[in-house]
Amino acid sequence: MRDKTGRTIDYLRLSVTDLCNYRCIYCMGEDGVCKKDHREILSIEELAEMGRAAVACGVRKIRLTGGEPLVRRGILELCRQLRGLEGLEELTLTTNGSLLPGMAADLKTAGVDRLNISLDTLDEERFRAVTRRGELKDVLEGLRAAEDAGFVRTKINTVLLSGINDDEIPTLVGLTREKAIGVRFIELMPMGPCADWPKERFIGADTVLEKVPALQLVRTDGVAEVYQVPGWAGTVGLIRPVSHCFCDRCNRIRITADGRLKPCLHSAREIPLRGLSGADLERAIREAVAEKPERHHLAEEHLSRSTRNMNEIGG
Ligand code: SAM
Ligand code: SF4
Repeated sequence: MRDKTGRTIDYLRLSVTDLCNYRCIYCMGEDGVCKKDHREILSIEELAEMGRAAVACGVRKIRLTGGEPLVRRGILELCRQLRGLEGLEELTLTTNGSLLPGMAADLKTAGVDRLNISLDTLDEERFRAVTRRGELKDVLEGLRAAEDAGFVRTKINTVLLSGINDDEIPTLVGLTREKAIGVRFIELMPMGPCADWPKERFIGADTVLEKVPALQLVRTDGVAEVYQVPGWAGTVGLIRPVSHCFCDRCNRIRITADGRLKPCLHSAREIPLRGLSGADLERAIREAVAEKPERHHLAEEHLSRSTRNMNEIGG
C-alpha cells in the first residue's frame, strides 16, 4: 500500500489487549486501566480477520503487542492463524518478557518468528520501581527461555529515562559483547502518564553515543539506526522519534485492541474497523492508509496528539 506521500506501508502493529501485568511508570497509571467490558475488545476471530485483511492489502509484517500480549487468552491460536496467512513474511511480538518462561516454546511452535523484550534496567530495585510490580529475575528467565526455545535475533527494548537508567547505558550495551542480540534504546515519548514529566527526564538517544564512543554506525533498519562495537556479536539500535523525526521512513499502521486503526501513533485520528470484514474491511484499511499524516509534531509541541496511553496502542 502507498500513502499520499508515496511511503510504502507494509507493517501492522496489532494490539491484542490493553491489559498488562506491569504498570510501567511512563506507560500506565498505578491503578492500571479502567477494565473495559470484554465485548469492547476484539475477539481472537476478529483480530485474525484484521490481520488477514491487512495482509490482503499488502502488509508483510505483523507485530503483536498490547498491553501485554501474553496475558491475552487465545494468543497462541491467534499466532497460529496469522502465521498461516499467505504473503505474511514475518510475525513478531513485543512483550515485557515476564511470562516467557512458560510460553516461549509454545510461541515458537505457534509460528512467532522473532521477539522484542522490553527491559529498562538491570537493577532489581529500579526494575520494581519502574514496573511498579515486576521482578527482574522473571524477565531474565524469559530471555533465557526465548533462547532455549530457539528464538534468534531477539531485541531488547530500553526506554531512555534520564536520572533512572542513563547510568546503565554502558552495561546494557555490554550485553551485545557476547550475544548476537540487538539492544535498542528508545527515546521517551511524551504521552500518557509521562506527558507532564519534567523535560529533563527526556534525553536524546545521542547520549548512548556519548557514553559508548566505540559504537559505529553499520546500517539503518526501519526507524532504527543500528550501531555496533567493532568485533562484538550483537548490535545497538537507536530509535529517536523526538530528536530525529523519522516520519519519512515510517512504514507502519496500528490497530488498537478495540478495533480502531491509527494511521499515525501521535495523531488523534482513528478509523473504526469493528464490524467490518472481507472487502469492506480491506477498503477501509486502504482508505485510512492513503490519508496517513505526513509527520508528527513531538519536537515542537513536546506532546503527542494521540488521545490514548501507550498500553492502549502498543508502542
Ligand atoms: N507490554 C509489552 C512491552 O512492554 O513490551 C508491549 C506493549 S508496550 C506499550 C510496547 C513498548 O512501548 C515497550 O517497549 C515500552 O517500553 C514502550 N513504551 C511505552 N510507553 C512509552 C513512551 N511514552 N515512550 C517510549 N516508549 C514507550
Ligand atoms: Fe505493560 Fe508494556 Fe506498558 Fe510496561 S510498557 S505497563 S509492560 S504495556
